[in-house]
Amino acid sequence: MKVFNTLSGQKEEFLPHPSQVKDEVKMYVCGVTPYDNCHIGHAMSYIIFDVIRRYLRFRGYKVKYVQNITDIDDKIIDRASKLGISPAELAQKYTDSYFEDMDALNIERADIYPRATEEIPKIIEVIQTLIDKGFAYPAGGSVYFRVRNVPDYGRLAHRNLAEVMAGTRIEPGEDKEHPMDFALWKASKPGEPCWESPWGQGRPGWHIECSAMSLKYLGDTLDIHGGGQDLIFPHHQNEIAQSESFTGVKPFVKYWLHNGLVQLGEEKMSKSLGNLITIKQALEEYSPDAIRIFILSSYYRSPLKYSEEALEAAERGAERLWQANEREGRGKQLDWSKFVEHQRQRFIDAMDDDFNTAQAVAVLFDLARDINRLGDEGYSVIHGQQLLAELAGVLGLALKPTRKLIKPVGIPSAEEFGIPTIITFPPKIDSEKDIENLIRQRDRLRKAKKWQEADKIRAKLDEMGVTLEDTPEGTIIRPKRKR
Ligand SMILES: [Zn+2]
Repeated sequence: MKVFNTLSGQKEEFLPHPSQVKDEVKMYVCGVTPYDNCHIGHAMSYIIFDVIRRYLRFRGYKVKYVQNITDIDDKIIDRASKLGISPAELAQKYTDSYFEDMDALNIERADIYPRATEEIPKIIEVIQTLIDKGFAYPAGGSVYFRVRNVPDYGRLAHRNLAEVMAGTRIEPGEDKEHPMDFALWKASKPGEPCWESPWGQGRPGWHIECSAMSLKYLGDTLDIHGGGQDLIFPHHQNEIAQSESFTGVKPFVKYWLHNGLVQLGEEKMSKSLGNLITIKQALEEYSPDAIRIFILSSYYRSPLKYSEEALEAAERGAERLWQANEREGRGKQLDWSKFVEHQRQRFIDAMDDDFNTAQAVAVLFDLARDINRLGDEGYSVIHGQQLLAELAGVLGLALKPTRKLIKPVGIPSAEEFGIPTIITFPPKIDSEKDIENLIRQRDRLRKAKKWQEADKIRAKLDEMGVTLEDTPEGTIIRPKRKR
């Protein structure tokens, strides 16, 4: 198995650090700063590391996965004060929203989610040791890291000290010795949340939080540290400087994995540019499987362009997989063993090559096509479906429209219809009641075999943005797709 390591700039054979537990992989991914709803950029990062974790497990590793929550930060303090609530209240609200989004996207929870505000003693301990070892110094109630004591600082971003230094400066109010130094502890301003420390009241900086938490929960050396490419510098470089100076053990991380960023148009999707699609907005339009297929259909290190066309295509792809997963085969027996082995190996070859999920998704589509073809020819398809479910599970696909909003209030139940009704997506409409009545009316007409009148109602529903599709399994109701 090969993974691309940002530190070496190359694909390397993946061998976990020899630790006490055999085949254990220690994985840390930088978590959210909960001050607003998460957007598709967050979805991309957390889906990719979810798939990496699932795949490692599929390959026989035990994965210990830690993700922090930066629940104290300038952005939280600023937004809370604008909204007139406490920073803690704001952070809790958006932490809840984050978990809601992750669950909806079928992202498995990490083993531990340490929160900055609950890890202050460990953070203080690490800072104190760094001061004792000469890697940090207190000044004006804050504590700064002495960057020039780390000769290979900048290595993760493939820059030397001179390149890193260009553009750094000392802001007014900072008591740094050198412009490159960064804050480990920040003296609090009046009215801000603060904690007692040997250097006075204050709060931790963002970088030290990740070092302290990974040390506490995973130890001196991590196998995988992940995050978006925008975190490589300075955040991850600072984590390396802090952790290695604290432990004296190199490397802090064996494999640095970074995902590309989501773009809307030509620009990076970001809060500061205001060009965001939140996860909740995307989930109103598309199924979780479609969002995952969209994200996994490109190489994770490349930038990903968000477009409705690409998501529509992913949605149709998801539907193809669901249909293949649910279709009935017939009695003709077939020896699936060679076929299953071949497709399974193709999937493994793809994923072993630095998680080539695009190729892995292509294997699932091929499998769906073969299931349909062989099913049509009268064969039993159960073995193909078992493999499809197994491999889809490694990519975190549920193989069904799993959304919570799946059954909109007011749509008549299958029993009332007398025929099963499969509702795949909630119609996004204002007059839900009218639609409900029209669907009931059409059903009555169909039962009475008044086809022409039933068709008129279908046309009317179509105008209202709802399409109906009658299948042998029942009627599928969907909102009309924008083309
Ligand atoms: Zn971090």
